[in-house]
Amino acid sequence: MKQSFFDLNYSDLETLIQQQHFHPSAASLLFNWHYKKKEVQPCYTNIARAAADYFAAHFDYSLPEIDSVYESQKDRTVKFLFKLQDQLTVETVLIPFNQKYSICLSSQVGCAMNCAFCFTGQQGLKRNLTTSEIVGQFIQAWRWLAEHRPGEERILNIVFMGQGEPLHNFDAVKKACEIFLAQHGTSIGVQKITISTAGYIPGLQRWSEEIPGVNLALSLHSPLTAKRNELIPLNKKYPLAEVLAYIDQIPLNKKQFVTYEYILIKDFNDSPEDAAHLGRLLSDRPAYINLIPFNAFPGAQYQPPSTATVAAFKAHLDTYNIPTLIRDAKGDDVLAACGQLNSKYQSSERVTR
Ligand code: SAH
Repeated sequence: MKQSFFDLNYSDLETLIQQQHFHPSAASLLFNWHYKKKEVQPCYTNIARAAADYFAAHFDYSLPEIDSVYESQKDRTVKFLFKLQDQLTVETVLIPFNQKYSICLSSQVGCAMNCAFCFTGQQGLKRNLTTSEIVGQFIQAWRWLAEHRPGEERILNIVFMGQGEPLHNFDAVKKACEIFLAQHGTSIGVQKITISTAGYIPGLQRWSEEIPGVNLALSLHSPLTAKRNELIPLNKKYPLAEVLAYIDQIPLNKKQFVTYEYILIKDFNDSPEDAAHLGRLLSDRPAYINLIPFNAFPGAQYQPPSTATVAAFKAHLDTYNIPTLIRDAKGDDVLAACGQLNSKYQSSERVTR
């Protein structure tokens, strides 16, 4: 099988072009064609015929196929179900804000972390995604916007918060980030990419050394060992204290901070004492807290707290002077909100294709 063009980062491409003795400008031309223009056919524009023929003949240009599209009637969130070459599927979500979008990418088919509150974990891990399958979600979502919401094809933020644990598929995620960052391609700013992790230390170590500047979000959910163990089994192997000790010594840029995600679950981790534990833990750290009221899914064992409880929890945290945001459940009418992604289960209305 041919290698995918979309598995090459810019320096892979430069090396190849040098080895084949093509003009060095072919690298920027190709990146511009596929990543700025988002063209998915081999490039025959502005590039020497020999180089064009070589790239057309030696590489595969297929991308994950859009199987179904679910558009939220509530807030214009879009969820894509992508079919991969081996027929497995993953989901990607476009989250709108002021005529622009954030994209929530999947990094694995399913997930090995088995978190108690997450629909994806119940699928188990099927396999890692390749770089081209990760980058492909972005290109296909962009092309869908250009066609269905012309003028709105602006995806300015990338979050690795879809299916999978991105630091558990480090090599492919790293290369995808390099492609997103490349100047001649999508040219996304480093501070516009966020990787969210359940606390996978081996990946964290590589993250800080190999993709510095990319933002980190840690799924914290409880500072208390017994509760965190119940929610995130990985905590037994890599306890929160070790994860935080590791994060603390990562050099951050001036404007950089770590986001701590905290799912609020009714009568489990939503009391004033829980808020006090969290506040004390994070008050001396360059932290930003994202409170996520638990999103229910079919068969879930937990429930979301009331709006009043969420507001009280935030008010309590505010006394510790940590910037805290309540993340609203965009797209929950089409099971596109955090923790609701599961390839095998789709909401019944299939809106467009
Ligand atoms: N594996 C990574 C990224 C995927 S989850 C991680 O654990 O961070 C992205 C975010 O959605 C995480 O903060 C996760 O804890 C949250 N999430 C998962 N299930 C959820 C649910 N049912 N309700 C609300 N948030 C959920």
